[in-house]
Amino acid sequence: MNCPKCNSSQFVKNGHTHYGKQRFRCQACGRQFVINPSGQPISQETRGLIEGASKNGLICNNLRLRSHKTVAHLQ
Ligand SMILES: [Zn+2]
Repeated sequence: MNCPKCNSSQFVKNGHTHYGKQRFRCQACGRQFVINPSGQPISQETRGLIEGASKNGLICNNLRLRSHKTVAHLQ
């Protein structure tokens, strides 16, 4: 498996996602990504939902909440 952005195979484990999946960070370009074992791309329907939620600010709010939790966890 390789970095989805720069195709480098140099990446390190970088904690876990909110859902418990192993997250990696590419050492070449710094991109963070999660290996998807099923290899399924995001469906058009899901993509539409994400874009719709993003327009409504829901994803932004989620990310903010998550980063707050991460900061609290580190302290
Ligand atoms: Zn990369």
